[in-house]
Amino acid sequence: MPRSEAAPPASPADAEAVPAEKTYPGSPRVIARGDHDISRRQIDPNALKVLYRLSKAGFFACLVGGGIRDLLLGEEPKDFDIATDAEPDEVRALFRNCRLIGRRFRLAHVVFGRDVIEVATFRASHAVDDEDEDGVVHDDGRILRDNVFGTIEDDAFRRDFTINALYYDIDGFVLLDYTGAMDDLAARRLRLIGDPATRYREDPVRLLRAVRFAAKLGFDIDAKTAAPMAELGSLLCDIPPSRLFDEVLKLFQTGHAVTSLEHLRRHNLLQYLFPAADAALKAGDEPFTRLLRCALENTDRRIAVGKPVTPAFIYAVFLWPALLREASALVDEGESTVMAFQRGASRAVDAQQDHTSLPKRFAGPMREIWILQPKLELYHGRRARRLLEHPRLRAAWDFLCLRRDAGEDVQHACDWWQQEMDRAETGTRSAEATSKGGSGRSRRGGRRRRGGRNRT
Ligand code: ATP
Ligand code: MG
Repeated sequence: MPRSEAAPPASPADAEAVPAEKTYPGSPRVIARGDHDISRRQIDPNALKVLYRLSKAGFFACLVGGGIRDLLLGEEPKDFDIATDAEPDEVRALFRNCRLIGRRFRLAHVVFGRDVIEVATFRASHAVDDEDEDGVVHDDGRILRDNVFGTIEDDAFRRDFTINALYYDIDGFVLLDYTGAMDDLAARRLRLIGDPATRYREDPVRLLRAVRFAAKLGFDIDAKTAAPMAELGSLLCDIPPSRLFDEVLKLFQTGHAVTSLEHLRRHNLLQYLFPAADAALKAGDEPFTRLLRCALENTDRRIAVGKPVTPAFIYAVFLWPALLREASALVDEGESTVMAFQRGASRAVDAQQDHTSLPKRFAGPMREIWILQPKLELYHGRRARRLLEHPRLRAAWDFLCLRRDAGEDVQHACDWWQQEMDRAETGTRSAEATSKGGSGRSRRGGRRRRGGRNRT
């Protein structure tokens, strides 16, 4: 049932009117339209449609979260989230193009083609001994289900960082600040709302979110917010690896991978995502330190110019020390390098699934990037040239070049493959292929050398 407690609902027609003295639960600091830089033009028209429809139906709805934060920082927002006093079923009843998602956190998605506007009902926090269906808290303080609805004020205080808890009320174009967010934005400071240790225990992923926002925005993490981070890091062991995978992508594939790594290391959190990489860095493994640095710089550069990046590549780098360890053990047991890489890859992938899972669609290509490494290094001849048709050759070659940039002695192989790929692209055949007797013979008719069944 509509229950807007504030002034008359806004609609496009009367949106310009400033409502008389609208009051809000809990008396937030209200930043008037003349005192901030956000304008309606900067907001996704679909988000505006949803806001106006909710408002017209008598609900109270605001923009909230990263979209508002980013606009105030002069950044392009990724998306606009809406918070409202309408419950999920009520939102669904208002929009034909709406579906409800999530169990841990139920919310509505209003779909406009490829644009999805997320609409969440105001949530209240709930006590640790809460046993009812809608809000479930684990013994260790972790919130397992978060569906206890509340007021906008409750909602503000259960968000993570102050700068993520600003609301924009389109009805009057005002910003509502319950948590001191405006001061933190001005000071470029990331501060958790409430007692940091409690908030990390409720949801340990906030540890990674602290790292992410500090890296993305170039903010300092407030001293009290930073203090318990290292000590509470082990709470991440209880987070489903699939959720950690999502966080890894946000840390390392959104343009600030280098700074994300710095923050993770500063707070000793890398071990919970990539234990072998963390151990290698801590042991002062220079080649790997350089490899990782080059890879992350490269990823940031690619994102800056709009080139695609894939988790397969980032994972191939982070798990490289694990692979090398496994492969070298297998070589010591008498396995060939190529076979050791294949079996070592399976072991490294299996071990990683306990930390941050890697979906099969990325694990496959990652293994191929790895397994091609020794093959690209043993580069000559006709068999090598067959790899030119391999779908992962380009990515594997990029990886080889990264190893070269990090100081490995593979320059020659990098050059040879570059030439071959260029030739293949222009359709010319190398003179070497002809001289080695590769030309004119069908693949079947060609001589097969030992181990030839291991074609990729
Ligand atoms: P981004 O621009 O990276 O999407 P964001 O701030 O929008 O950043 P989201 O993960 O999209 O981050 O979450 C939207 C909002 O939901 C956040 O701004 C924050 O207010 C709230 N939120 C998200 N995750 C948590 C969490 N784990 N604990 C508390 N509040 C959260
Ligand atoms: Mg967001």
